[in-house]
Amino acid sequence: RWIIAASMVLATAAGCSGSGDETTVEQPDRGTIGIAMPTTKSARWVGDGKSIAQQFELLGYKTDLQYAEDDVDKQISQIKAMIAGGEKALVVGAIDGTALKDVLASAATAKVPVISYDRLIRDTPNITYYATFDNFKVGVLQAGAIVKALKLSSTGGTDNIELFAGSADDNNATFFFNGAMSILTPYLKSGRLKVVSGETAFKTVATQRWDGAVAKKRMQRLLAGPLRGTKVDAILSPYDGLSRAIIEALQENGYKKLPVVTGQDAELESAKLIASGIQTETVYKDTRELAKVAVQMTNSLLLGGVPEVNDEKQYDNGVKVVPTFLLQPVNVDRTNYERVLVDGGYYTADQLAG
Ligand code: BGC
Repeated sequence: RWIIAASMVLATAAGCSGSGDETTVEQPDRGTIGIAMPTTKSARWVGDGKSIAQQFELLGYKTDLQYAEDDVDKQISQIKAMIAGGEKALVVGAIDGTALKDVLASAATAKVPVISYDRLIRDTPNITYYATFDNFKVGVLQAGAIVKALKLSSTGGTDNIELFAGSADDNNATFFFNGAMSILTPYLKSGRLKVVSGETAFKTVATQRWDGAVAKKRMQRLLAGPLRGTKVDAILSPYDGLSRAIIEALQENGYKKLPVVTGQDAELESAKLIASGIQTETVYKDTRELAKVAVQMTNSLLLGGVPEVNDEKQYDNGVKVVPTFLLQPVNVDRTNYERVLVDGGYYTADQLAG
């Protein structure tokens, strides 16, 4: 029996504060949900964890939110402990999508359903549903921003581009890269775009653990080697944390007029760089919405229902095609960042100005 202010629960859901009238409500014990997130180093995952936990709590669940700081073994131990602790369901944002097969076999034995969150967990039959954004489209938007900024379709000549991809053990990274290459390949074939370094294979341009320091090093190596004496006009970067590190390397190398640089996640620091014209673009994914989808999926499963999905083709994890709910990513640049990020309530104008 919990004494709570009923109006506060409703008011919190609507984002305002309660009026204080107290009621006694019988709360069923709905159990605890394990939420395993990859890292607190990137702002988006901090937001995801918070939103998922809040929304489960509004439905009367308890939550166990754990971050593994990009340490795969640590994530496996955290998930093991969640299963051993009798948690009702797991929402997992994997670090290495190929490393959770064994631990998820124990989840299946314990009849704990697992929702794959944002990143597809591979090589296991033991995930029930997948909630994510249209990851191929993320890459299409990033490449589209390059096409637009360099006016590739309307003007001639050759522009130089370098390609960066995300972590090879994250299934999303391939989707982002393939989406971008679906747009860039015709320009590379016609010679309108040129990769001066010649580094175009996904494995070669991938950035282990999405680590900015790794991307910065690679950019420095390119600038000191193949790009010496040439100007790079565009950088395909899959994530804001890498974009900022790449921009730093370029600035330290003396670039005044920076190339077109893409990104993803609309991280606050990158949104500011977009406002000041330093980073060209980011892809905004409203993680509050993703959290909602994952929470609804889990709740529906636990109540014996069938979660809603809108994609049953794209996400084959090597064992099965995982029923998926895809949300739409949004392109953000200098022309619309205020409308999307501030009017949409993701950031306040003060945060962007600060
Ligand atoms: C997510 C991106 C994020 C990246 C690095 C990907 O799996 O989908 O939103 O930028 O991981 O954290």
